[in-house]
Amino acid sequence: MVTIKTEREIQLMREAGQILAKVHKELEGYVKPGLTTLDLDTKCEKLIRSMGAVPSFKGYCGFPASACVSVNDEVVHGIPSADRYIEEGDIVTLDVGVIWKGWQSDAARTHAVGKIDSEVQELIDHTRESFFVGIKAATDGARVNDIGRTIEDYINQFGYGIVEDLVGHGIGREMHEEPEVPNFACRSRGMKLRKNMTIAVEPMINLGTWMVEEQDNGWTFVTCDGAPSAHYENTILITEGEPEVLSLLPEEKKIYNVK
Ligand code: MG
Repeated sequence: MVTIKTEREIQLMREAGQILAKVHKELEGYVKPGLTTLDLDTKCEKLIRSMGAVPSFKGYCGFPASACVSVNDEVVHGIPSADRYIEEGDIVTLDVGVIWKGWQSDAARTHAVGKIDSEVQELIDHTRESFFVGIKAATDGARVNDIGRTIEDYINQFGYGIVEDLVGHGIGREMHEEPEVPNFACRSRGMKLRKNMTIAVEPMINLGTWMVEEQDNGWTFVTCDGAPSAHYENTILITEGEPEVLSLLPEEKKIYNVK
């Protein structure tokens, strides 16, 4: 179901988004070589709970952790493990969701671990930029698939693969609400976006092929060619003008020049 939020609900989603933005900011400074992916998850859960929020991923459809921690060719839904060390040169995607007073926020960031190849850093940067380019199309009265077309137009110049098996989504009381928000051009225009809808936009971009496959653990998606993948996600509020990015800190909004 698509939900249009009231002012009070939007305020709570803003608060949820700010908690999540702080969690991500702390985690950004925490990522370093020698940690395990479970260390990152443990830190993440502590941060979320210290702010009085609840990790929405934990137990979601049986997912065992608070963060999805996906390394290198893992696209999404990496399961934190005490045996998986992150090393200099890796990239690690942290996808995290929180619930605050019954309202959800969802955001993902890909981080470099120490020094990484320049082409991989560019992949991370272009993936993030594709989000900011894409959300410019997300205004009241536009169609949901205008976002994906805009992202695809931007990404195609780099020759990357856009993941099609996984998409963004509406968000509110539930982590996944309608509509689906693809990161690529579709033949249909999709649903009309309306003021006070909240959606998570989350381009997942591969350095090589767009094709991904699910691993035997039933969760983790990896690229079919083993090339690295980057992910960038925020929860946004549809307005009459540019959307408001709920899961970025004020100083980050200044850097990226968004509302
Ligand atoms: Mg999401």
